[in-house]
Amino acid sequence: MGRMELKGVQKDFGPVTVIPPLDLEIEEGEFVVFVGPSGCGKSTLLRLIAGLEDVTDGVIEIDAQDATDQAPGKRGLAMVFQSYALYPHLTVAQNIAFPMRMAGLSRDEQARRIDNAAKVLNLTDYLDRRPKQLSGGQRQRVAIGRAIVREPSAFLFDEPLSNLDAALRVGMRLEISELHKRLQTTMIYVTHDQVEAMTMADKIVVLNAGVIEQVGSPLDLYDAPRNLFVAEFIGSPKMNILKGAYAEEHDAAVIGIRPEHLTISTDAGIWKGTAGISEHLGSDTFIRVNVEGVEDALTVRVAGKMQLDMGSTVYLTPTQENIHRFDAAGLRMI
Ligand code: ADP
Ligand code: MG
Repeated sequence: MGRMELKGVQKDFGPVTVIPPLDLEIEEGEFVVFVGPSGCGKSTLLRLIAGLEDVTDGVIEIDAQDATDQAPGKRGLAMVFQSYALYPHLTVAQNIAFPMRMAGLSRDEQARRIDNAAKVLNLTDYLDRRPKQLSGGQRQRVAIGRAIVREPSAFLFDEPLSNLDAALRVGMRLEISELHKRLQTTMIYVTHDQVEAMTMADKIVVLNAGVIEQVGSPLDLYDAPRNLFVAEFIGSPKMNILKGAYAEEHDAAVIGIRPEHLTISTDAGIWKGTAGISEHLGSDTFIRVNVEGVEDALTVRVAGKMQLDMGSTVYLTPTQENIHRFDAAGLRMI
């Protein structure tokens, strides 16, 4: 259950094509993340799958059935949004029960599913509370509970953690990953945050202006980005980009090197530069280095602590095997 196939799926809004024809397969039980910058079409693609938008062209199959023209309620999917909109006057249990009441499930069945969802989400002790007596994370869990009781074949999440503060986001990220491990149900998760994508996904789909740039596991994308867009989008701080003579030396139009694949020395090295600002995170230090003929300052990641005076001369050395080469069209060279 929860296997999906998108074939030539296209979406236009009036004269504007937001998603040019696109193919995508989602396997049963997979945790798939759609990631890309704001406005690239992530929500639109999710809403097409959910049936909340009609496709302009193409076919959507869910569990080998043509679902293209199926009503949202018939697709067996459950969606969790960023704004979780709980009913303030209803208790947690009543909020979770809401879609089941709409569907006319028996009271016994409702109670069984509420009980089950509450256990999975650690909400058992909160079932009689009202939303305003809950923390942001607990409210989001209630919204997920409302999806769980529908026993969907797949969960669709649209930036569900965007309204939470940073610490809570990390916690909820883990909870959703654990939930997936427990339920083994297909999950499609939309985010603009590449860290969420990297930490949660079995499979990442990188979108750019409605086009799939690459599909792969987090480490596939990190180690072998198919093009410059993916190279610069995945990874934080982002990959350093060098052109001109630096790239020509490697027979490429552009080369990229990740901050952790550069070593820095005050004595000797391959590229000479000047130290800029350092960011001290405790666990790591990110040092900006201006290298002659390179547009943007390069970022070097040093494990642990390092003190460097701004303006001092430094030398950088890339580890050769970690240099990513791209051609004039921005495609990865082998
Ligand atoms: P994302 O979720 O990646 O931020 P969206 O899927 O919301 O992006 O939007 C993709 C593009 O489609 C944007 O340019 C947006 O303005 C446009 N868009 C989304 N919904 C509509 C709509 N109902 N009518 C017209 N344009 C829309
Ligand atoms: Mg969106």
